[in-house]
Amino acid sequence: MRLSFIILWSLCPFFLLSWTQERVNGDSGAGLHWCTSRVNIWLNEDGSSKISGGKDLDALRTAMDVWNSVECNHPELVEVGLTQDRDKHGKGTPARNFIVWRTRDEWEQAGYSFSALAMTTLWYDPGSGRVYKGTMEFNDTQNWSVGTPVTGTDVWNTASHEFGHFIGMDHSKDPNATMYPYTGGHDMVKRDLNNDDINGICSIYSKPYKDCSDNGCGCTNGSGSISMGMVALLLLILLVFVLRSKAGEY
Ligand SMILES: [Zn+2]
Repeated sequence: MRLSFIILWSLCPFFLLSWTQERVNGDSGAGLHWCTSRVNIWLNEDGSSKISGGKDLDALRTAMDVWNSVECNHPELVEVGLTQDRDKHGKGTPARNFIVWRTRDEWEQAGYSFSALAMTTLWYDPGSGRVYKGTMEFNDTQNWSVGTPVTGTDVWNTASHEFGHFIGMDHSKDPNATMYPYTGGHDMVKRDLNNDDINGICSIYSKPYKDCSDNGCGCTNGSGSISMGMVALLLLILLVFVLRSKAGEY
């Protein structure tokens, strides 16, 4: 059985297509996507308590570059600055995208599983699938690591996976893909993308979305943000993705 499985895959490379796009939970089934060419992201200045010297934030920047360097049309992930904001709902700034390491208390209060490494949450229009805001939260009770050799849970590895969600990718069945949902200890295979991930992001943004060209949607301002009024008008739904630590299942 194993041999026939391998032969099938080697003869039919198109079966290797494993990536998927995040979808609206609802009737429309629309694929999630950004309309902006730049997704502006704030980084919480505290980073992880486990990493010193700002190397945790540098690893986030590296992971952004991994996706930005894919040579096809897709939104660019742009760091716009550091923030002290820890509020997921961004008081006064409803469309602020930001990344934060959560303390044990914060993680518990949010009701997240402690086996989860990180959570990416997207706010989107359930009709069109247009994404308006995203946050990425890291579980600071994990043993975070930067650089090589990897001595714990690698920030770059985890962030590359989460930025895939941020930009519109769902999980892949390809165990070598960055968007594969499981990871083992000291994993760094997800740091860089493989062809499955690249095919995914390029396919998702290969054609224009109708809702991105509608007048008045505010989608061509390149700011990645919308007004308070627009947020109030739209029925926005959260979609939460989790990268869980399941050593041995990789
Ligand atoms: Zn995931």
